[in-house]
Amino acid sequence: MNFELTDEQKRIQAQARQFAEQEVAPVAREADEKGQFPLHLVKRMGELGFLAGPIEPEYGGSGMDYVGYALLCEELGRADSSVRGFLTVHTSLVSLCIRDWGTEEQKRRYLPRLASGEWIGCYALTEPDAGSDAASMQAIAREEGDSYVLNGEKIWITNGASAHIAIVFASRDRSARHKGICAFLVETDTPGFLREPMPGKELGHRAAEHPYHPGGMPRAKKCAARRSRRGLQSRHVCPGPRSPGRCCRGCRCSASVPGCLYSFYKATTPVWPAYR
Ligand SMILES: Cc1cc2nc3c(=O)[nH]c(=O)nc-3n(C[C@H](O)[C@H](O)[C@H](O)COP(=O)(O)OP(=O)(O)OC[C@H]3O[C@@H](n4cnc5c(N)ncnc54)[C@H](O)[C@@H]3O)c2cc1C
Repeated sequence: MNFELTDEQKRIQAQARQFAEQEVAPVAREADEKGQFPLHLVKRMGELGFLAGPIEPEYGGSGMDYVGYALLCEELGRADSSVRGFLTVHTSLVSLCIRDWGTEEQKRRYLPRLASGEWIGCYALTEPDAGSDAASMQAIAREEGDSYVLNGEKIWITNGASAHIAIVFASRDRSARHKGICAFLVETDTPGFLREPMPGKELGHRAAEHPYHPGGMPRAKKCAARRSRRGLQSRHVCPGPRSPGRCCRGCRCSASVPGCLYSFYKATTPVWPAYR
């Protein structure tokens, strides 16, 4: 088995490293201290083709393979875990979810905007009383004409303060537990979509946005899931996009540890080699 990187993967790694060192790292400390995400980097990542790495070019993506995408996440994560976290959610949890489960109309509407950074995406699954056990979520979706009216609270939603589009999970039938849960695409200017700062202070990557979404009544017109014989079931959607999400979280570890060791080495050793 050949574990050598291809020329294209090496190119992505070098470009991501240059961006991370020259544009992300210099603002990371201040962003962390202020607890403010450096939003100016979003458009830059769009210009560089990072925001839709694994998305196909026909939807504005760069068509990277997953090794290339993992290298990109590693390089960003080495400079700032908040920026890597932004990308993980925006690309892995939102764009890939829409690509894999959205209708053609939804893909054409959202993917190019997410790829350029014109729009930011968030993924709203977790609730104050429903984390690992997502099936116990309280958010409900009530069908009304051609729409669903959602009501529920979400918390820890990365990118949630700035997002233009949210994939919101809610149950159409709480007695059905996980089988009743559906994923809805909600544009965040929908009346009733509320966001407030999350109480408390985080221990790590504080620049990431994690607002609290109190109970609201946004109206969702369309569902992210494909219509199937079972209806708009989202239990297929939920683990699907979380798999690349998990892969990128793995990159957080493989990026942070050498990044920390290198910073320590750099700070304590008079002559240090370039990071490899
Ligand atoms: C930095 C950050 C970003 C996040 N971003 C998002 C986001 O963008 N969107 C979103 O929806 N959510 C997000 N979350 C929320 C995250 O997905 C939840 O924190 C996660 O699902 C765990 O839920 P919880 O925190 O309520 O912990 P709990 O579910 O209460 O779990 C607490 C502990 O108990 C363990 N545990 C739970 N159940 C069992 C069991 N049955 N058996 C054994 N052990 C168990 C867990 O492994 C864990 O160690 C984010 C969280 C963090 C920290």
